[in-house]
Amino acid sequence: MSSTARIALNRPIRQLFDYTVPVELQLQPGQRVHVPFGRQKITGIVVETGSKPPAGITLKPVSYALEDWPALPAETFRLLSWASDYYQHPLGECLFTALPPALRRGQPAEEKPEICWRATSASPELPANAHKQKALLTLLQEHPEGLSMSAITKAGYTQQQLKSLAGKGLAESLIRKPEPASHTADSDVTTGPTLSPAQEKAAEQLVEGENGFNPCLLFGITGSGKTEIYLDYLTKNLARDKQALVLVPEINLTPQTVARFQRYFGARIAVWHSALNDRERLETWLKIRNGEPIILIGTRSAALLPFTQLSAIIVDEEHDSSYKQGDGFRYSARDVAVYRAHLNQCPIILGSATPSLESLNNAKQGKYKLVRLEERAKNAAPPSLSLLDIRSRPLEGGLSRPAISAIQQALNKGEQALVFVNRRGFAPVMMCFDCGHTVECPRCDTRLTYHRRDRAMRCHHCDYQTAATEACPECQSEAFKPVGQGTERTEDILGEAFPDTPVVRVDRDSTQRKGSIQAILKQVNKGDPCILVGTQMLAKGHDFPNVTLVVVVNADGGLFSVDFRAPEQLIQTLLQVSGRAGRGAKPGEVLIQTCHSDHPLLKALCRGNYLEIADQLLAERESGLLPPFRAMAILRAEGNTMEQSLQFLDSVKPMTQRPGIETWGPLPALIARRADRHRAQLIINSGSRKSLNYLLRQICQHLDQMPMRPRTRWMIDVDPLES
Ligand code: ADP
Ligand code: ZN
Ligand code: ZN
Repeated sequence: MSSTARIALNRPIRQLFDYTVPVELQLQPGQRVHVPFGRQKITGIVVETGSKPPAGITLKPVSYALEDWPALPAETFRLLSWASDYYQHPLGECLFTALPPALRRGQPAEEKPEICWRATSASPELPANAHKQKALLTLLQEHPEGLSMSAITKAGYTQQQLKSLAGKGLAESLIRKPEPASHTADSDVTTGPTLSPAQEKAAEQLVEGENGFNPCLLFGITGSGKTEIYLDYLTKNLARDKQALVLVPEINLTPQTVARFQRYFGARIAVWHSALNDRERLETWLKIRNGEPIILIGTRSAALLPFTQLSAIIVDEEHDSSYKQGDGFRYSARDVAVYRAHLNQCPIILGSATPSLESLNNAKQGKYKLVRLEERAKNAAPPSLSLLDIRSRPLEGGLSRPAISAIQQALNKGEQALVFVNRRGFAPVMMCFDCGHTVECPRCDTRLTYHRRDRAMRCHHCDYQTAATEACPECQSEAFKPVGQGTERTEDILGEAFPDTPVVRVDRDSTQRKGSIQAILKQVNKGDPCILVGTQMLAKGHDFPNVTLVVVVNADGGLFSVDFRAPEQLIQTLLQVSGRAGRGAKPGEVLIQTCHSDHPLLKALCRGNYLEIADQLLAERESGLLPPFRAMAILRAEGNTMEQSLQFLDSVKPMTQRPGIETWGPLPALIARRADRHRAQLIINSGSRKSLNYLLRQICQHLDQMPMRPRTRWMIDVDPLES
């Protein structure tokens, strides 16, 4: 008699599918199979084998197995099953997140040979005006080993130009086998970096590798040299045949970090981030799955990859909100990493200059060991912070006179200045100075943001955009001008005030093109006087030795927000951006412009003691019955009308009325309308993680079984970062 298997599919449904297994097939959990589904054949992942076939139903057979080993080994499978339950997200989608796109599509789990192009020995007879083709031919001649199509397009040539060369017999293709990975090259380094005495002291307190699951929270102030500690830890604790995972918030912003790891571990270093192409993803995925002794530096989704020899995890900037996935499978890579260290009984280091309140609370409760590193490396002093009250001061592009003259002084000394525009809560909008009219997105409850470069107004919550008008659309007044601070306006004002100094803008718009951030960093790191102006991106982990002054254009967004996480995030951002000042030999100064210079939070910030502020914030969270003292989840609903969304949540609310559970709402979300969907939420809170998880499971079951599929879209966000 044939047995059956339960298969998970890459679909947003909380359901597994039963198939019979042909006798010649040996299946195990985590294995990829091909199954008939409706009229299609699709890829599935085995969840369970040997289950009893339900009586009276004729099952279809599994077509075949894509390979005879599990693509997701036992530990990864357990991790994802746990995450599926913890975040109440369908198992199929969770499991497929751990596969590279090629394997999700059912392609074979092997590296494909790459097609490359090289110049032939034919002598060129190209028309005199075929400049591009000539240049491409020269490029190919310079690379006798061959260039891939992607390398050719990256260099600025088109497929058409290549085809023309090939048609004339000047270029030919060859198949290049992927090189076998060699890990012997530089990985013989046994000595780590030379640590400063303070670093040495911190490093000694980190728990050694063989002691099992032992999370350490490394609180190291900005510029204290946390990367050196990680490097030292791995050289001492990671055996040559083992794997390590180093999570970073955003790899492209800090290419120096990867370079520093490569210096010690050479070819053992691999990277994982969103800019990799499908081929590169498959290649790296296979190395990890094959147990090669990789040290993987990666962003969020690296936490889910199928390691088989994982024996150390590092989470750098563990407070960073980009570790939390914002849609679909809403996992936190940091929290998944902690659970993974537990599964593997291996050490994990969470590092930050501004640890999350969650992690600090875990340290207070003795779940994590707190290791403090409160001196900067290279004898640099911590920057000094001061508040600059801008009430009734004239501002230009958001900048006050004292701030401009401080920038002037830094430049005079041959140093660099960084101007930070806190976007959170602020955006430039077009406003009529006669009638007060502002332009709102027709599809969302937000104002349109003005982009000076192309005179466009855009919605940052949907794709809506429109051209900015010269006159007020309401009263036709000509006094229709941008208000609020955007980076572009600040950049223009700085350009006018300092015509001889380069002004470098760093934000999403200016760094979109591949390689542009590298070019910017290169220019800044030459050290010549310049002014950096930008948003949140500038607060992240950069090491600019010649920046001595940081000006925060406006600190006040977040001081009075209704979002309970806003004060924590504000302080973290301000301390992180302040930490860019004075990292080299010269001391750093930070000027924070504010209209609330007597606000206790900002005053505490100037004393520079993060742990003291965090204690205060933790006390407020505790008395407010908020995370991390409670487990929280949000049930979100999106309908065609607000009434529909609220009604939907109201219909679920009675299920939550039980001891140990509190609910707030249903209420409209902070941005109540987005892309014409009306958003409401029900916040569910509990002192017990278990009770919360149990309730969420029941809610999902209930909603999945509703005979009529509700018109309202709903989703669950466990440990939400946005409300
Ligand atoms: P953090 O990540 O803690 O803010 P970094 O790791 O970026 O700090 O280190 C800050 C700077 O100090 C870097 O330029 C780094 O190369 C340097 N540095 C750190 N530790 C040492 C050391 N032991 N000896 C020399 N330079 C160091
Ligand atoms: Zn919109
Ligand atoms: Zn008007």
